This record gives sequence, structure tokens and C-alpha cells, in this order.
Amino acid sequence: MGAMVPRGNGQAIRLPRGASLADFADKIDANQGALVQVVFTQLGEMVTATQSCTDETLQLLGVTLGYDVQIVSPEDEDKELLESFDLSFGGEYGDEIELSARPPVVTVMGHVDHGKTKLLDAIRSTDVVGGEAGGITQHIGAYQVRAKVDGDERKITFIDTPGHEAFTAMRARGAQVTDIVVLVVAADDGVKPQTIEALNHAQAANVPIVVAVNKIDKEGADPLKVRGQLTEYGLVAEEYGGDAMFVDVSARNRTNIDGLLEAVILTADAALDLRAPTGTEAQGVAIEGRLDRGRGPVATVLVQRGTLRVGDSVVAGDAFGRVRAMLDEHGDPVSEAGPARPVQVLGFTSVPDAGDNFLVVPEDRVARQIAERRQARERNAELALSRGRPTLETILERMKEGEKTQLNLILKGDVSGSVETVEDSLLKIDVGDEVSLRIIGRGVGAITENDVNLASASEAVILGFNVRAEGKARELAERERVDVRYYSVIYQAIEDIENALKGMLKPVYEEVQLGTAEVREVFRVPRIGNVAGCLVRSGLIRRNTKARLIRDGVVVADNLTVESLKRFKDDATEVREGYECGIGLGSFNDIKIDDVIETFEQREVPRS
Ligand code: GDP
Repeated sequence: MGAMVPRGNGQAIRLPRGASLADFADKIDANQGALVQVVFTQLGEMVTATQSCTDETLQLLGVTLGYDVQIVSPEDEDKELLESFDLSFGGEYGDEIELSARPPVVTVMGHVDHGKTKLLDAIRSTDVVGGEAGGITQHIGAYQVRAKVDGDERKITFIDTPGHEAFTAMRARGAQVTDIVVLVVAADDGVKPQTIEALNHAQAANVPIVVAVNKIDKEGADPLKVRGQLTEYGLVAEEYGGDAMFVDVSARNRTNIDGLLEAVILTADAALDLRAPTGTEAQGVAIEGRLDRGRGPVATVLVQRGTLRVGDSVVAGDAFGRVRAMLDEHGDPVSEAGPARPVQVLGFTSVPDAGDNFLVVPEDRVARQIAERRQARERNAELALSRGRPTLETILERMKEGEKTQLNLILKGDVSGSVETVEDSLLKIDVGDEVSLRIIGRGVGAITENDVNLASASEAVILGFNVRAEGKARELAERERVDVRYYSVIYQAIEDIENALKGMLKPVYEEVQLGTAEVREVFRVPRIGNVAGCLVRSGLIRRNTKARLIRDGVVVADNLTVESLKRFKDDATEVREGYECGIGLGSFNDIKIDDVIETFEQREVPRS
């Protein structure tokens, strides 16, 4: 029956995460169809030859056929990929490479409201040595300040995103960025749960800690108590014979910020050997990225070794490009950046993620190839992952089967009133005893990456009222297959959820976005009204389709129609991504520069 499948004798075969049966067949020189059949008959799973498989399926198939399947992690694959280009990331330095001292990189962590943000502000404005009038004004995700220690001028780099979320997110991606953690503890509040959490993260990463005992200006401040409390967690102050430096500060009054900076330097000198080569091609980590309206993708990178220069070809994660310009935290152009120097890089063709390793490669072509290979790999891994991500329908399906009894929702709206109204109404829905509805997140404003992450982690569905997920949040939602539903009318949402919970699912119409256009200019045309001079950002804009106008992530007007569409002087039926056009929205005239016009249509989704 069917083609023969060659049996193995426990030979090892290596497959990337998310590989398909076709990939498997390739490795063992078998017929794809035969493998599909084996998986179906022996493992009871129906997968097509090109579909991504889970690690488990690949491994079980291996056991069934007598192969030792080794799933190659993305990191390993990355290493192999770079090696195939004669490149490598990180690693030990050889003897022949000359190393120079580099500044420490610091992350500020601590319990909420203990003053992390305030402290970063205070440090930012302390850089008097920098002589910049007004100090550091640009937020680029990290900044460097100078401190005087024993008469020497020393630099320190601060990561400008406080908290352990960013720290762990980067560590989860394999990027070790932080050399020293400044643990902020409010002297009037003492050690709190997140203080311990931060402490655990720092200790797990083997990163030395400097404790900033903050708010010493406040009544009831008890800096000694903080020292006592932390002793219980193995963090003993120097003055008590331990090796951690505790510094009393007031971020609000900017008291003893110098002392804190000095403690950071002294701790670095005592505990760490911070040296890196400067003469090699740059490598480092992307710590922040976003799409800038005017300048395209901008990414802040922290150089960890070597020197980054304008004109270098770079690749970061699955983004690549050539460094067109670099800016520092003062907004000033810089031509080169050495170790521990954060710079904002212009010239990427897409936005890298925080935590992506970046490296300079010999030429643009190599950068592109590495990026493309990584993209392909991500897609495969996501495909494997997305099977099984819940939508509202599948969650309800599972509820019906008694597998799951709770529907988690996250509500986002343009005004807090609408969010509250929806929440109230949703909680009033009578859903019976078997199932429950929980609202695990709510807020005002556009749907953010944070919302998507929360939804993805807790299998929740996001409901947006007159707000959208834009840019990276939208991409993330697509990638993570998080079900995001948009509503402009409250009762529709409630009806949807109610009907869904009652198992009376009506045909589902899915809104399909056709395209988006960014308003660059607004023209007043006599007798017609305002016409938007636009650049089509994605998809295409077609005449007579439905449209809405979005300003800063919030829907300003819904139910509009693209009534006129022009390319220069001529009427057009559609205009594609990357082209300019004039859009008239009928009698609707409230159009401003930087607004986004989104066009869409409703399509019925077939039930599965
Ligand atoms: P974060 O959540 O840790 O980032 O804390 P913030 O920096 O936002 O500070 C929380 C609150 O504490 C704010 O109202 C600050 O103004 C206040 N705060 C921060 N540092 C000090 C300080 O040194 N003294 C006093 N009195 N208040 C402070």
C-alpha cells in the first residue's frame, strides 16, 4: 500500500522548527505523499505535505520511522546561517584582537511608582559634563551620560525603558544587554513584590546590582529599613560587610545622583571586566524600533563590539539596510559609534524588533540574503505556531465541548466612557453557569503591542471601539494570530458576544482592509470641498469603496466613501502602494495632514 518509506536505524536528522513533511521527506529521501499517509494512519493527524508541523509531530514521526529527529532552534539555525556567510555573532575574542575599555550599560528596575522614570529623568539632566543646553531631549531608547569618578570622566549608558519586562524580553531573545542593574526602592515604601521580581531577574542573569534608595526627601523615609529588608534576599550593603552598593537619592530633588553614577562605575570596575574591540565591524542589539512618518524605519541600536559607521550594510533580525545616517540622544548626527554607544539608525528597509541582534556585513547583498532567510524561517515557525491559536469561534467551540469555560476579553476604546459602557453591558449578559466571561484588560487609545501580547498569553479576544491596531501592533496581532475585532457601535459588540455565547452564530462578516493612505497635504477645491493629497502606504485605494479616517490611532469618521480618486489630473479607479493620489471623501471635509485613510470591504467568512 502506497510508496515505501525508508526506515531508519536511529540516524539523526536535523530539521528546523516548523519544518513540513516535505522537508522531512527530503532529508530521508522519501515520497512526500507517503509521509502524509504515515502521519495520518499512525499518528492520526491530517497534515498536508507543505504545512508546518509542530515539534511533537516531527519527533513522533521520527520515532515511528526510526530516526532521531533533532529540532534545530532558531538560534542554532541563525548561527549556521551566519557561518555559511563566513560571519559569526558574538563569541570569545581571540588573543590577536585588541580590546578597549567600554562604558557599562545599565537598566533601571524596581517596583511600580518607586521612581524609576523620575530617576532616569534626573540622570538624563545630570549630564552637565556634556554641556548640552537643556540636557538630553530625544527619546531614542537609551542614552549615555558622563560622570566624574576620582577626577576621571567616565561614561555610562542607560537603557531608557525602565522595568524588568524589557530586560526579560530581550534576554528571552538571547540578547544580554545589561551589565549592571540599578534597583530602585522607595525609602518610604520599602521592598515590594516587584522589587523582589526585579532582583530575581537580575540575579538570574548574573548581573551586579546597585541599589538606589529613592525618595529620601519624603517624610517617613527609612533608608536603613530598606537595607535590612534586602539582606533577607542576599543583597547585603557594603557598610554591613556585603558587596552591594546602596546609594540614598532623591530623584525628585536630584539629590546624590552623582553618588549613584559613581557607585555604578565603582561596581563595574570591581565586578566586571568591560572591554570590547573597536577595530572590527560592529555588532550589537536593537533596543527599540519604530516606523517614523517622515523618515521611515528608525531603530536604536546599542553597539556591543566594533565600530558602526555611516554607509555600513547591516542586518538586524529579519530587517536589513544600509546606515544612511546615525543620530545620538541629542538629535545630533554622528558618523561612528563604538561599544556601549546607543545610536538611532536610519536606513533600515523595515523595523527591527527590540532584542534583535544586529551585525555589519560586507555588502548589501549579504544583508538582504540573511534577512530573507530569517524571514522565511520566521514564517514557517509562525505557521506552525498559529495552528491552534484561538479565535472567538474556536474558543466558543471549545467551550461548547466543555474544554474551556472562560472567555477572556480585552476592551479598547477611543473614550473611557465607551469602554465602561461596553464592560458594564458585557458583564450583564446572562451566560449561564457553565461559562464565564472575564475582562482581563481595558483601556483608552489605540490597540498596542502590549494588548496583543496580553491577549496572546491569555488566549483572549480583543474588542476595539473606534480604535485600531496600527503598525507593529497590527503586525504582531497577525503574526500571533490574535483575534482582534473592530466595532463602531457598542450594541453590535454586545450582540456579537451574546450571540456567540448563546451558540447562535450568525454568518460572520469579516472586514478586509484593502489599503491605507497617509494624508500628506489637504487641498481646498472650490465647490467640491477638501481633497486629501495622499501617499498610498499599503494595499490599494479603490474608488467607491468604504473608508474611514484615523487620526493618531483613533477613528475620527467611519462610514465614508472614496467618492473621487485622482492620479495627478486624471481620474483613477485604483491606486497602488507607493503611489500618490488625491482622495475626495464626498461632503466630509475634516481632513488633516498625517491622518490615515483606510479603505475596507466586508466579506463573509466561511465557517469551518
Ligand atoms: P516608576 O513607576 O517607578 O517609573 O515611578 P515614577 O518615576 O513614575 O514615580 C512615581 C511617583 O513618585 C511620581 O509621582 C514621582 O513624582 C514620585 N517620585 C519619584 N521620585 C521621587 C522622589 O525622589 N521624591 C519624591 N517625593 N517623590 C518622588
